[in-house]
Amino acid sequence: EPVLALDAVEKSYNRGKPGEVRVLRGASLAVAAGEVVALVAPSGAGKSTLLHIAGLLDTPDAGQVRIAGAEMGAASDRKRTAARRADIGFVYQFHHLLPEFTATENIVLPQLAAGAGRAKAEARALDLLDRMGIGARADHRPAALSGGEQQRVAVCRALANAPRLLLADEPTGNLDPATSDRVFDALMELVRGTGLAALIATHNLELAARMDRVLHLEAGRLV
Ligand code: ADP
Ligand code: ADP
Repeated sequence: EPVLALDAVEKSYNRGKPGEVRVLRGASLAVAAGEVVALVAPSGAGKSTLLHIAGLLDTPDAGQVRIAGAEMGAASDRKRTAARRADIGFVYQFHHLLPEFTATENIVLPQLAAGAGRAKAEARALDLLDRMGIGARADHRPAALSGGEQQRVAVCRALANAPRLLLADEPTGNLDPATSDRVFDALMELVRGTGLAALIATHNLELAARMDRVLHLEAGRLV
């Protein structure tokens, strides 16, 4: 049973109107637990659309979106939100950390929102920061961290509630090549250590080649 399965997903913007853009045209993919899959797509090919549908932030026009076997593409908003919060972590190109909170607090807050106790949440935050190689920066606010450190914190935050699926959109895309490489290595090691499924969009073919599989989004399908 894959953690994420898209089956014949269709998605258009301005559907049925002049100017309709058919973005996904029978997109299918599966990502299993413990698997790290690269998503490579030229700009405008529909990478964000695909990640939003996989992340239950948007609905497909047709086709299925299954998270751990449960069909979510046509589920109610309430069910989709619950599944997103419980099962899916997101990392973006820009970190989106809360500027007034420390690295630790940025990882603690989503855990408190999910019902965890503070002591446990803090211990988990520190463990994640250690594993991403920035335990020493735990008490710094985002503005006091380098770009690479900020992205490392963003990875920890995405994993705060132990999701089954990590979706990342150019997670090292705004970093210089050497920093990008190091952050990517840390991310891979952490992901490997947790056994979660990961779908990581990147323009960097060298990083893509280091993942388990590379999927190319072309003409609305994955090849
Ligand atoms: P990518 O992330 O690969 O750059 P997107 O998924 O953002 O691609 O967009 C795919 C295509 O859909 C592009 O041609 C884009 O212009 C179009 N598109 C994206 N969002 C909308 C929207 N809200 N309304 C109309 N067209 C859109
Ligand atoms: P919260 O529990 O903070 O209300 P949500 O359930 O709305 O969060 O969203 C869960 C995840 O989805 C968060 O990591 C958030 O970053 C991401 N997310 C929510 N809305 C969007 C959006 N419109 N575009 C991209 N990511 C989003």
